[in-house]
Amino acid sequence: MRNAGIGSWPERRLRSSPEDDAIWFDGTTTSHRAFAERVRRAAAALAELGVHAGDRVAWTGGNHPSALETLYACGQLGAIWVPFNARLAVPEAEYVLAHSGSTVVVHGRDHGGLADALRDRLGDVRHWIAAETPVDGGSDSLPYEDLLAGAEPQPLDEPVALEDPCLIMYTSGTTGRPKGAVLTHGNMTWNAMNQLLGLNMATDERTLALAPLFHIGGLNGTVNSALLAGGCAVIVRRFDPAETLQVIEEQRVNSFFAVPTMLDAMSREPAFRARDLSALRTIGAAGAAVPLPTLRTWLDRGVTMQQCYGMTEAAPGCTVLASADAVRKVGSAGRPVFFTDVRVLRPDGTQAATDEVGEIVVQGPNVMAGYWNDPEQTAAALREGWYHTGDAGSVDEEGFLYVRDRYKDMIISGGENVYPAEVESALLELDGVQEAAVIGVPDDRWGEVGLAVVVPAPGAALDADDLRVRLRDRLAAFKVPKHVALVDELPKTATGKVRKPDLRSRYLPTKETPA
Ligand code: ATP
Ligand code: MG
Repeated sequence: MRNAGIGSWPERRLRSSPEDDAIWFDGTTTSHRAFAERVRRAAAALAELGVHAGDRVAWTGGNHPSALETLYACGQLGAIWVPFNARLAVPEAEYVLAHSGSTVVVHGRDHGGLADALRDRLGDVRHWIAAETPVDGGSDSLPYEDLLAGAEPQPLDEPVALEDPCLIMYTSGTTGRPKGAVLTHGNMTWNAMNQLLGLNMATDERTLALAPLFHIGGLNGTVNSALLAGGCAVIVRRFDPAETLQVIEEQRVNSFFAVPTMLDAMSREPAFRARDLSALRTIGAAGAAVPLPTLRTWLDRGVTMQQCYGMTEAAPGCTVLASADAVRKVGSAGRPVFFTDVRVLRPDGTQAATDEVGEIVVQGPNVMAGYWNDPEQTAAALREGWYHTGDAGSVDEEGFLYVRDRYKDMIISGGENVYPAEVESALLELDGVQEAAVIGVPDDRWGEVGLAVVVPAPGAALDADDLRVRLRDRLAAFKVPKHVALVDELPKTATGKVRKPDLRSRYLPTKETPA
């Protein structure tokens, strides 16, 4: 095979276990043989529409097999897959499509309206394809199933190397405008290898595709690695806590990746205790630290939880905290995954001492080639072979990484560094607090102080002063937010992260506005 990239994976699987399950979606199971056939047809269909090596093919929607099929199909053609967040507003989606120079867009059934809104504004997009019959608009899009049915599969002869770009994955946009991380076939392969080793994936793994497939955690957290292992991706369209628990039981799911807010929402469901979760072996959690109360609820249910630290730019896994260490090393994101190195640097570039906080930097075959069409951000992020994460952290004497928070979010109060994540964790442990986010606001005396924006649990009557008093039992006085605002909900990204720029623009209209 001249294809060393991930597009060859479905073909290689045919040699050993073609009849095993590859995909479960909407009540239908597809074998690896049938999946490989669909990928070949998708590649042929894209080629017939004029897609060549190096061209960009965008995909958006709720989770759907077409995401994986078009990803691998692009890999067969040497084309570059550009997933984008289905919840982007029209101008944001327009930015991603124009910035990536996508010529074909595949969209889900709920995104026909987006296709209609953008069809005339994006001259470079030659074809809009609907993965399913669109429910709302998008009737001009080509039907994906018809294209596959009519395609003439070709031999896999495009030379694709591990160094070639596989996809452009836009970052979550938590801190500003999303950046297009170029991930190569090698990045995808080595991340999958790191996951296979770290999560002990079996050849009959049944993993749940729960987090959005257009996000790196949803795509590569467990899904691509389970497929590489020969397992099955059990795909759910979108996250609904009760439905997810039902699918985990019925499909005998062994593993999945989630962000902490999903785990928290599931643990609050009555079904959480009632459902049979006995097949569920492990959960990979990342995006932020899992709050201790949430962690305990899942551990009590007999599920192991591997907390990971990662980012889009590293495809994404950098460190993993094994479940066995979860309580002993609470708050840590664990140790580097097999093929990846992690360090903490001082501002002068020298290595920080044990427990000294500095910037986390990452090196390894999973780290991106750079940002698409953005030499400045690339040069700022990739320096001397290390990816500079912008995250503050430290490493202890046993080599465990502690991620404090993003430097951009750090509050400096009376000369002391306050990491909002720590304050948020303490808040979440208080009765009556459902969600919390802390930002810095200017203060005449301390320079900056914390403002806690808190969502009360249903039925809880919270009082700002009382919250501050209760926090004093858990945190040094300088870390206790001086201000508390009670709100009904927090602004979030599609992956459930709080958009702090939005909070800042709400509470500090002049300091920072969201991109
Ligand atoms: P953008 O770069 O566009 O602002 P983003 O950084 O949120 O968005 P992602 O690549 O999805 O986009 O997220 C990676 C970031 O998430 C990391 O840099 C880190 O700040 C945070 N993160 C990931 N895992 C953890 C963890 N285990 N603990 C704390 N923070 C984490
Ligand atoms: Mg980032």
